[in-house]
Amino acid sequence: MTQGSSSRPSGPGVLAINGGSSSIKFALFETDGEPRRRLYGKIDRIGLGGASLVFNDAASGRQGGLGIEAPDHRSAADFLIGWIEGEAVLDSVKAVGHRVVHGMERTGPERVTPDLLAWLNRIKPYDPDHLPLEIELIEAFCRRCPGLPQLACFDTAFHSAMPRAARLLPIPRRYDAQGVRRYGFHGLSYAYLMEELARLSGVEAVMGRVILAHLGNGASMAAVLDGRGVDTSMGFTPAAGLPMGTRPGDIDPGVAWHLMRTENLTPEQFNRIINHESGLLGVSETSSDMRDLIGLQAGDVRAAEAVELFCYQARKWIGAFAAALGGLDTLVFSGGIGENSAEVRSRICGALGFLGVELDGDRNAANGPVISAGPGRVVVRVIRTDEELMIARAVCRGLGG
Ligand code: ADP
Repeated sequence: MTQGSSSRPSGPGVLAINGGSSSIKFALFETDGEPRRRLYGKIDRIGLGGASLVFNDAASGRQGGLGIEAPDHRSAADFLIGWIEGEAVLDSVKAVGHRVVHGMERTGPERVTPDLLAWLNRIKPYDPDHLPLEIELIEAFCRRCPGLPQLACFDTAFHSAMPRAARLLPIPRRYDAQGVRRYGFHGLSYAYLMEELARLSGVEAVMGRVILAHLGNGASMAAVLDGRGVDTSMGFTPAAGLPMGTRPGDIDPGVAWHLMRTENLTPEQFNRIINHESGLLGVSETSSDMRDLIGLQAGDVRAAEAVELFCYQARKWIGAFAAALGGLDTLVFSGGIGENSAEVRSRICGALGFLGVELDGDRNAANGPVISAGPGRVVVRVIRTDEELMIARAVCRGLGG
């Protein structure tokens, strides 16, 4: 791989970092005006062996990939920073924005300070599958680029104005006082989808009754009324709500007690089942990946049941949120499954005619942009989400630029 400087932004740059459980997505934006993506890519398979970095240089069209050693997020971040230095673009970066999954009531974006880092370390147990590695990424940038402003962009922020009835969990009140309540996640994606909806459909659509369905490995929905998030399917942690790749979504709390008792599980073992062994993977026993399951479903009843469970539960959540909103004007599909699977969208929407949801087969097969049929009451859209762009916009706003 050759390194070069063609992707060097001509104006001040913002680097957006989006860390997942085994990946880091990154994107360098030119931010004089609306942020424009220049150099972007992803490190995959962190901690799993066979890690790689793939990149695209939007300016020159250059793209490539390389195998790297990344036993953990710290080493992956160190590699990424060195690689960006090698691309001769690090000195054009004026700020780094990090996706931070949990911010509790914080709305952000917030400058990373020792106090903020100490606070994030304190709430780490709230999301042991994301926060520790996100903190590692922030710390790596603090260590390697000490003078560079860093901002935390919280995935929970979008939902911060939910009414109390949607936030409160029906457990003893003392836990709410400790912060155990519904927060909701995927907020950067939802904020982006609402901005895109405003751009594509105008302000009336945004001010209507909207359900946003972010269906990827992690899957959730948000109910939005008058432009404000009023409910969401994820809860205190991202394991709640819809079934996902490896998480169950909502389950009977008695199941937790039953499993812990009959299998004598430690909290860590239970967390492993809930975050890594359930959902599509748990039911199919083969894969957490919707594409794989759709390929397998004709000959494997377990795969067929996993796909049907996902579509059925998604339909149920749309019904629930339509009730919460008092009807539905716009339904937006996003995330890897929502953006790409006509079959899943069609199976979710198939029985929603009573709500005014009707898909156009050809438009659905073409993945959008509008997939609803003619004069149906509900406009159904597919919008490709862009969390990194949302991070860049949030950083620009946060820095007042
Ligand atoms: P993440 O939540 O990790 O960002 P993505 O949003 O990329 O995940 O979504 C990944 C999911 O999208 C996987 O289950 C993948 O199989 C699914 N997916 C991607 N393309 C398709 C497709 N054409 N048909 C069905 N599922 C798809």
